Amino acid sequence: MLNVILFGPPGAGKGTQSERLIEKYGLCHISTGDLFRWHTKNDTELGKRVKEIINSGQLVSDDITIAMLKHEVEKNPEANGFLFDGFPRTVDQAKALDALMESMNTSIHAVIELKVTEDEVRQRIAKRKQLENRADDASDKLDRRIGEYFNKTVHVLPFYEEQGRLSTVNGIGDIETIFADIDKTVSALEV
Ligand code: AMP
Repeated sequence: MLNVILFGPPGAGKGTQSERLIEKYGLCHISTGDLFRWHTKNDTELGKRVKEIINSGQLVSDDITIAMLKHEVEKNPEANGFLFDGFPRTVDQAKALDALMESMNTSIHAVIELKVTEDEVRQRIAKRKQLENRADDASDKLDRRIGEYFNKTVHVLPFYEEQGRLSTVNGIGDIETIFADIDKTVSALEV
């Protein structure tokens, strides 16, 4: 199994780069943001519980997020590995993910940070808003989402860095070059 986390602020290009990675390595893509959006769109019980929080740009509680993530991983026992996108966003989520991987006799092999400045992120999301009209991209929510990343989520990085599991890739540039940089790390993993 090959398990990778793609880490970065909203608008860093995690979605685009994830598509390439899952195609190349046959990984099961788990994006907690996509899962939450699916639940809210389909008005499930979980969707009803998290809708307000997501639309306000805040983070969903660890309990709810970890339970959803676990369920999704356990639904795919035959996977070659997983690509986690948008998860973990807190140290407690990171620890829960390690425990889950350990219970499956595997681990997180690499954490790849897509490094993008706050300015670049704002410009990209403004563009995406015009194309996709995502409720959580609305400009009044944007500050909070970006703030959540730069104030809270980044604190997860030292957790992985201390364990030598973090690789940082410049997320500004053309898509192919960024993918080549990410792939350098992934292809070098001895799994
Ligand atoms: P994303 O598309 O990854 O930016 O996620 C969209 C929204 O879903 C976030 O702004 C949060 O409200 C929620 N969300 C996604 N992943 C997580 C997570 N790991 N922890 C808490 N909330 C999350």
